[in-house]
This record gives sequence, structure tokens and C-alpha cells, in this order.
Amino acid sequence: MHFDLKSTEKWRHLPKVELHCHFEGCIPYEIVIDEHQRQGIPLPAASDAECRKAFVLEKPAKNLEDALPTLERGAIIFEEARAITRVASEVVFRKAMENVKLLELRYCPPFVESKSKGKISMEDVLVAIQEGITFGINRAREQDKEIHVFLIASGLAALGSESLQKAVDFVIRHKKDFVAFDLCGPEKDLNQYDKYLNQVHDAGIGVTIHAAESTEPKNAQIAVEKLHAKRIGHGIKVVQDAAVFEYLRQHNIHLEISPISNLCTGEVKAASEHPIAKFHKDGFSLSINSDDPACFGSCLSDDYALIHEKCGFGTADFFQINRSALQASFVSQELKNTLLQEYFSEEKEKEWIFTFDY
Ligand SMILES: [Zn+2]
Repeated sequence: MHFDLKSTEKWRHLPKVELHCHFEGCIPYEIVIDEHQRQGIPLPAASDAECRKAFVLEKPAKNLEDALPTLERGAIIFEEARAITRVASEVVFRKAMENVKLLELRYCPPFVESKSKGKISMEDVLVAIQEGITFGINRAREQDKEIHVFLIASGLAALGSESLQKAVDFVIRHKKDFVAFDLCGPEKDLNQYDKYLNQVHDAGIGVTIHAAESTEPKNAQIAVEKLHAKRIGHGIKVVQDAAVFEYLRQHNIHLEISPISNLCTGEVKAASEHPIAKFHKDGFSLSINSDDPACFGSCLSDDYALIHEKCGFGTADFFQINRSALQASFVSQELKNTLLQEYFSEEKEKEWIFTFDY
């Protein structure tokens, strides 16, 4: 979607923490097309304009469910491990160029495996992604950009109970390779997922859950009370329920906010109405995230620009948010301390305010 943003370039420079980004939603359009041609996969349309419509949301969807086919379509190129590595490298490099210093990147192991049509296992997918991440980090380093990348395994509820159990078993088996587990949509009553999340929690793995993105505010409270969530993906609907809102605030539950995603999926109708302003004013711990940027034709700096231009957030707000994001990250306290010192301290904030705002 096109938002006619004027300050994206400015916000590219700001150091950032990103906690909610789906690998499957990060495949750059040019790479989707190039991989179709390289792998001999027929394109969904003859003209470039029509192809773009198949992979990138050009206007807001009716709701999240309506948007999901577009969000998942590009993953067809994951039939080959080489394409997975290529995309991972590109994602990490591009994030580093936007000055993302800490990235928690998530993907659904059984989903990506299923796209390979049995050619590569979940283990191979993991190795391919890790290889790509290493390439991306090294490419960024050549440009003097530092980025730290960690993986979250997602369980995709839409694929059914067998797939969900497969994702849970996989993350437990490979817990040294992941910092957390995520449950993603489409969002139904979350009570039914406790048996899966109990296993994850018992294995000592952190939990974040997509909740109150498109349906019931109550789901966010269920995610915390029953599913061990320390963070909520989106949570935007909780502004509709004062009791749930207060519950999350009292329990200091972090909200992973993705403003452009909410507009593209049609869950928020106008940027100026986005509940991020209320959450921020009421002292919530927040992060700003891109969710599935390639499918929205956006990048993380666009989310910053949007919130700056439509909700009045400035450098000081973004520093506060990124410090909260860093604290809510699933990485070690040692790394948090280092990154805080290096990029997100109050001292650094003053330098950026001086550079940006005077
Ligand atoms: Zn998401």
C-alpha cells in the first residue's frame, strides 16, 4: 500500500529493535519474481502489475482473514533451500541497513517445510535460514552495520493440531536455536491451545501470542493467563475492553505493535485512529514492528514515519519504545545491557534529538 510518507528516510537512521517480523512475509517482490523464473514456477499473471497484486496488498483487505492468502503466496519459492538462504540473507541485510540493531525473526517450521513439497526437512529449513542470517550479518558488517538476529518458531493454528504439535516438538528439540515460540492466526478462541503452550513453557521457552489482532480483546488475557504469553502480537483490540486493557497494563505485558500491518489487513481504518497513541500515553511497554513488510510494500522505517506523521510520535517517543522493546526481548540480559549502552541509552537519545530535531 502507498501511504505518501515524507519522513521514511529520516527514520531509517534511527537505531531500532524489532520483535515481530515473519520471515515468510519478508520475501522482496523482485526475489519472488526472480525465483519463479529461476525455479521454473509459473507466475500467477502475465503482466508485472497483475503479478504485484498477487503478492503485495495494494489496498486494505476487509479483515485479517481476507489478507492471509496474499501474505502466504510468496512462500511458494521455498521449494529450494537455496531460495530460503537467499531470502534470509536479504532480509537481515535490509534490516541492518535500516539500522535495526536487534531483530527477532519468526517463521513457522512446518509451513516452510510444506512449501518444499517434501524435498527439505524442517531441520534443513533451519540450517538454510541460519546460513542466510550469517551471510546477511556479514554483508551488513562490510557496510559497517551491526545487527543481532534471533529466531522465534511460530505455530500456525490454521494448519491444524498435527502441524501445531510438530512445531512445538521442533522448537523443544532445537531450543538452543530459538529464543521463543509464537502462536499465530487466524485468531480463534485461544483457550483450546493450552496443551501446546504448556509443553513449550515447561521446556523453558519464552512465549509470545498473536491475540486481539482481529477478534476478541479477551483473547489477550487468555494468552497471558492460560498460554504463558509474556508478549502479545498486536493486541490492538484490547482498547475496546477496559478490564482487559487494565489487566495487561497491571501485568506489564508487552505489545508488539505493527501499525502498517493493521491498516493493510483492515483491522484499523485510519492511521490517526491507531490505538498505539493510547497505549503509549497509558504507559504500556511497546515495540514498533513491520510484521509482513514485503506483503505490504513497506519497510520498518515506514511504520516509524507513519506513527510520526499521523500520531505525532518523535525521537524521544521512539527511544522510549525501543528501550521497552529491548527489555521485552527474549535475548540474554547481557546482550540487552550491551545494546542499551551502545545504541539506546538516554545519552544516545540526547545525541539523536540534537541531530534530528534542532
Ligand atoms: Zn504477525
